[in-house]
Amino acid sequence: MAQSDGENGGSAGTGYVFEQLYLWHEPGSVSFDIWTQPGEHWEAAETKHRLHALLEVSGALDDTTRIRAREAKREELLYFHTEAYVDKVAEISARERGGDTGEMARLGNEGWRIAILSCGGVLAAVEAIHAKKVRNAYCLVRPPGHHAEPDQGMGFCIFNNIVIGALHARRLGHRRIAVVDFDIHHGNGTETAAKDDQDFLFISLHQDNNYPIGRGAIIEDEAGQTTINIPLPPGSGVGAYEYAMTQAVLPALRKFDPDFIFVSAGYDGAFCDPLARMMLTSEAFGGMARQIIEVANTMCEGRILFAHEGGYSKEYSPFCGLAVVEALTGHKSKAEDGFLVEANAWAYQALQPSQRAVIDRVASILGFGDALSATESEALAEIEKLLARDGVDREKLLGKLHQSGLV
Ligand SMILES: [Zn+2]
Repeated sequence: MAQSDGENGGSAGTGYVFEQLYLWHEPGSVSFDIWTQPGEHWEAAETKHRLHALLEVSGALDDTTRIRAREAKREELLYFHTEAYVDKVAEISARERGGDTGEMARLGNEGWRIAILSCGGVLAAVEAIHAKKVRNAYCLVRPPGHHAEPDQGMGFCIFNNIVIGALHARRLGHRRIAVVDFDIHHGNGTETAAKDDQDFLFISLHQDNNYPIGRGAIIEDEAGQTTINIPLPPGSGVGAYEYAMTQAVLPALRKFDPDFIFVSAGYDGAFCDPLARMMLTSEAFGGMARQIIEVANTMCEGRILFAHEGGYSKEYSPFCGLAVVEALTGHKSKAEDGFLVEANAWAYQALQPSQRAVIDRVASILGFGDALSATESEALAEIEKLLARDGVDREKLLGKLHQSGLV
């Protein structure tokens, strides 16, 4: 694969982690109880396989540099997990038919080696970014990680890949860590890691009380808190996410001044996902990614790592992942999202009052008193879209606007 010379690439482009072994992870049957007919699990290899395939077929993979995953070491798992839990996962993995590592987080026979290779994929990417071999990275790892708690697996997640990666980055000297989680479920494991750690900011955008039940509510007393929860109403679309980004996520990231940004990239907020009720499009995911990458480019020399989490539409998750990889490389591939026109045309994609109320509440707790009105926010989003267009030299254009006294 060629190395990128794209606008975000410079002398070091985008790293990409994927291993065929990730597809061999066995999350078990979808059945919850004896009354659910056994069948293919939502967290299937196919969604990941199709994303990798689309990256290759579209040519996007050619704009990246492959990073080989390595196995996470026991002491690295212990950055976050307990000794007892690590032993338990090893013991379950040795069973002939595997088992559940906690709550809905099954592992097949010999699944241990896949779980530590998933976690180690993120670690290898952290090391490559740290060593400036690549500027940023996308880790198409499996099993996912953001629900995993120190002492138990949860929600299809065995080890908390992104937390262990973030704590690894800190050991390499990047003290202030920010994790943005746009998976539709609350990143409860990551919230646990950020708790009481003033140098660890966790921002989660998720569907209000989807999974895990009882986690992810707005934290009313934000002073000194290290987690920003943005629990959006079901039905939220492109407008709600754009508003949440401009009103809360981006200002909070800038205020925190991170040394390294991580993103839990889940695509289960897409309009056709089976496990949630949101309406996002590939364009929306790509737009969010570009905005967060822009913060990394201006605040921490471009150090940003996306780790794959959920996203259960076999047909659509690949387009969302592709849009994010394109945002990282700065190159639009030749692939087109054929679902986009229909999804964008769905009614209520614009910001709705119930969504705005949640986001304004979070913004006001954070002390962002200059919160924009919905119309102003839409205008800002339009300007940002224009600035992100291919062929636009952002700095040059902003310079001209300054010169002309418009800004
Ligand atoms: Zn999810």
